[in-house]
Amino acid sequence: MKKIGVLGAGQLGRMMGLAGIPFACRFRFLDPVENSPAKVVGEQIVGPFSQGTHLDQFSSGLDVLTYEFENVPVELARHMAGRLPVYPPPQALEFSQDRLIEKQLFQRLGIQPAPFHALQNLSDLEQVIKAFGFPFIIKTRRMGYDGKGQFLVKSESDAKQAWQDGLGHDLIAEGFVRFQRECSLIAVRSKDARTAFYPLVQNFHHQGILRLSLVPCQKLTGELQSQAVGYVAKILQELDYTGVLAVEFFVADNKLIANEMAPRVHNSGHWTMDGAETSQFENHIRAITGLPLGATNAIGASAMINLIGTVPDVHRMLKIPGSHLHLYGKEPREGRKLGHLNIRADSSEKLIELLQECKDLMPAETFQQFQQTCC
Ligand code: AMP
Repeated sequence: MKKIGVLGAGQLGRMMGLAGIPFACRFRFLDPVENSPAKVVGEQIVGPFSQGTHLDQFSSGLDVLTYEFENVPVELARHMAGRLPVYPPPQALEFSQDRLIEKQLFQRLGIQPAPFHALQNLSDLEQVIKAFGFPFIIKTRRMGYDGKGQFLVKSESDAKQAWQDGLGHDLIAEGFVRFQRECSLIAVRSKDARTAFYPLVQNFHHQGILRLSLVPCQKLTGELQSQAVGYVAKILQELDYTGVLAVEFFVADNKLIANEMAPRVHNSGHWTMDGAETSQFENHIRAITGLPLGATNAIGASAMINLIGTVPDVHRMLKIPGSHLHLYGKEPREGRKLGHLNIRADSSEKLIELLQECKDLMPAETFQQFQQTCC
């Protein structure tokens, strides 16, 4: 029976716990927020993500440590690695926390990112305006997620405004990618370097937040899956990775452009809970505890709809054939991820038919985008 420590006690920790309990794993979470979503599946130490005496209580008796969010301070992860095994490796956090070195890693491994340029002064900004033209995107290098810390720059005056707003942060400029679709690849690597990859997931974002994921990707060629697998395999090997890794891509002119990676279980992998032979959460637990990986094949076709801000009528959602509801036990608040609905069907055609009835479960723009891409 392994005792697993988790930095963070949000919904990802909760779902890790739910997946690990059948293996008789026990969980202890560290999070400064009391009454967290993960508290129901393990013990929680309430304390900050920084060094202190609370870490003795947290780490006592643990066999392995993992984390459920990528902004875990790298120093904390490294400090903990001196006490017990930490997976994924803290080095993965370092790359994923800074968009500049993350893109440099992609480039070094032959994985194409969007055009990018570090912005250190106004002459960098002028250079970017010349090289990229409008529009382009300015992002904070650190602490950006779900579209936070991003400015779409359409003109000289936008550029000046974004520069002003971003003062005090390290910034990066990115060329605007006119992508046809967004997708992600969820991968897992075991301690003995075996790898497994889920099918590419097609993702629909609204205001920077994931709203809908579909598997299989609609109208995608087989080469993209193997290209994505090749890319992600390089990252896994380079970082001597253990656990689940997610990499997000844009698809433009049938080519993959890497956007970012997350060294953890990922929202776009939640469909695996009901639509894959082994869920991403179970595979993460298997990987970090040294168990054999489970098969990653999809069973039929799946959709995952994020429930954001409010929870729609539960009876109505559960009447959808093939639906499975996952609520995180969080208080409703605007923009907050409160749960997700997975829908599984025998074929993509059937799934798309079922999704026609789900218009009210997602923003109008997402539904429209889904119809344009899939119908
Ligand atoms: P990120 O936080 O980098 O994942 O960005 C959130 C969302 O913004 C992405 O999922 C895209 O929909 C959009 N986005 C980010 N970067 C770019 C880019 N370089 N070109 C076009 N759209 C982007």
